[in-house]
Amino acid sequence: MEKPLSNRVALVTGASRGIGRAAAKALAAEGAHVIAIARTVGGLEELDDEIKSVGGTATLVPLDLKDFEALDRLGASIFERWKKLDCFLGNAGVLGVLTLISHLQPKAFQELLDVNVTANYRLIRSLDPLLKFSDAGRVLFVSSSVARSHRAFWGGYAMSKAALESIALTYAAECETTNVRVNLLNPGATRTAMRAKAMPGEDPDTLPKPDDIAPLIVKMLSPSFNDNATLVNYRDTKR
Ligand code: NDP
Repeated sequence: MEKPLSNRVALVTGASRGIGRAAAKALAAEGAHVIAIARTVGGLEELDDEIKSVGGTATLVPLDLKDFEALDRLGASIFERWKKLDCFLGNAGVLGVLTLISHLQPKAFQELLDVNVTANYRLIRSLDPLLKFSDAGRVLFVSSSVARSHRAFWGGYAMSKAALESIALTYAAECETTNVRVNLLNPGATRTAMRAKAMPGEDPDTLPKPDDIAPLIVKMLSPSFNDNATLVNYRDTKR
């Protein structure tokens, strides 16, 4: 039987662990071919095994998102092989260092900008024509509640997510008259390595797992999801 995302190609950044890996597996289980991006080859290989176990397929792309020229080449490679891209999940992110903004080191600030902001802009630039070749290109960026709050010590990460939201919502406005839809997801506190780094004293068993968030991501990347320029909070969908 044909699966809901059969013949669709989905690119997922940050696919080696956490939310991105769960989303990649869920997209593949629904029939999408997943282009999985991250630096950690072992994590990508584990994902590949998981995807095969649910009858799916993936192309693994070990890549540092700070290699911006590689992101340009990625668009060309996807065009050569598939001629289109149906789903783009901009999920990869770094937390940086939680500290006073006056103490944040330039190197940490730059990495937040590079991974959380510039890489996503460079991917939009590289992937936009491919998304427009799809009959229903779907883009989803993973943000955070701190983008819209101003919590002490979280300034670097918050700045990066606010900039990401600004780029995403501008891109959404520019796609309004096309087949492409661009949205934001705030997963809320989720049981991942990043959350454990941010909140080391927290009991992870009290938090939703990445697998709990994945179905919402699949829904927001499906052709039937026609909303544009929205921010969906995972927790609101559970009330
Ligand atoms: P994890 O730290 O578990 O995973 C982050 C992913 O990003 C990894 O796959 C990592 O792969 C990838 N990544 C980081 N830097 C790079 C890089 N330079 N090049 C390529 N890939 C990179 O984080 P989460 O799953 O928790 O986070 C996913 C998203 O959700 C992030 O955008 C985060 O900001 C957001 N979020 C998470 C929340 C939470 O509570 N967990 C709450 C709100 C938002 P690798 O290291 O292999 O390169």
